[in-house]
Amino acid sequence: QVQSTLKDTLVELDKKHFIHPTSSLKQQQESGPPFIFTEGKGVYLTDISGKKVLEGMSSLWNVNVGYGRKELAEAARDQMEKLAFTNSFSSFSNEPAIRLAAKLAEITPCDLNAVFFTSGGSESNDTAYKLVRHYWKLKGSPQKTKIISRKKGYHGVNIGATSATGISPFHQMTSSLAPDFLHVDTFSTDALRDCIAKEGADTIAAFISEPVQGAGGVNIAPDGYFQEVRKICDENNILFIADEVITGFGRTGKLFACEHYNVVPDVLLLAKGITSGYIQLGAVVLTERIHKELIALSDGVLLHGYTYSGHATACAVALKNLEIIEKENLVENSRLMGEKLLNGFKKIQAEVDIVGEVRALGLIGAVEIIDPVTNNRFPTLISPKVSAECAKRGLIVRTVGFEGMDTVVFSPPLVINKQEIDELISILRDSLLAVQ
Ligand code: PLP
Repeated sequence: QVQSTLKDTLVELDKKHFIHPTSSLKQQQESGPPFIFTEGKGVYLTDISGKKVLEGMSSLWNVNVGYGRKELAEAARDQMEKLAFTNSFSSFSNEPAIRLAAKLAEITPCDLNAVFFTSGGSESNDTAYKLVRHYWKLKGSPQKTKIISRKKGYHGVNIGATSATGISPFHQMTSSLAPDFLHVDTFSTDALRDCIAKEGADTIAAFISEPVQGAGGVNIAPDGYFQEVRKICDENNILFIADEVITGFGRTGKLFACEHYNVVPDVLLLAKGITSGYIQLGAVVLTERIHKELIALSDGVLLHGYTYSGHATACAVALKNLEIIEKENLVENSRLMGEKLLNGFKKIQAEVDIVGEVRALGLIGAVEIIDPVTNNRFPTLISPKVSAECAKRGLIVRTVGFEGMDTVVFSPPLVINKQEIDELISILRDSLLAVQ
């Protein structure tokens, strides 16, 4: 009784005062929040009514080490007690930021060695667009300003990141995209070549892509695609930015997804799994070559920085989070459990008529819904119904219902074990059968 009164009070306060990100304002007023979570442990969350759910999405693809990690709470508390925060402007520094920058230099591929800190993925993107333009300007090519990204790519919600995002519904809140952002077909290297030829390589600063598109429906590149992209960028003197905000830190079964393709970007964007969501942090990693050129050519202050760039507490939590990922072999677990997840999807595909293509790379995956008669999408979206059935049965998933897709996507914590994968697959199967 007490608990239900508390819940009612919170729901009313939520409706009145809390504007939720990426949510339907009307639906929030009608039904209130579907869950008010109060606790998390491993891959499970508990809500205020006591209902326990399996988190098939690691929240927003980011709680890689799972919920309820006391080590991370202790790392934050220890650092806050000593020195919670000091700014990094004018080259002021702090030990966790220095150690984390050095650690990222060590674990990222090849000569990706110099780190600019942000507070999340959108900031990492906007920072990268400004840095690459600044770089070309310093090198005497100020006309190299254009950023090419891909259709179905997602890069965040700041004006620059929104403009690079290739999913048109996300453009609705800007009257126009920022100048000089172009989109090409997702996996077409011909489209990339054509775009460069049409615009002129001397006007293009960078090409950006996610190694595996996440929010655009978990789209995994065909063999050879990224090697060809790297070649095209080199031939045309265009920088290659890899947005590993989702795919970094083990999500795909390698520490960084570009390792699947043996391709090293010039700029690597990180966030999310860098702290497993325990605190806000993002990073932009540059190659040593670009860093050295920026130092040699710079003629004043680098006028770009966030108050929280190099936040001591966030960096201390990130260091502990990376220690957990290493100690518990979570990258290998992601690879192994990812295989099991994909096998589970395939079994469901054989059994359930409305399941189309299924795919996964490590612990990021997707199940497409199709009309078995036409082999196309149904006239109305089915995936939200699947997601609602999953929630009823105790599994959180997300859906992608734009750009012709009707897809359920998955990204469970990297600590997930065999029994928990079986549970996920069993609930998904029952939910699909219930809507079919
Ligand atoms: N880049 C990618 C690939 C993402 O998936 C996201 C968020 O989902 C972002 C950037 C934006 O990150 P944030 O929401 O932390 O600003």
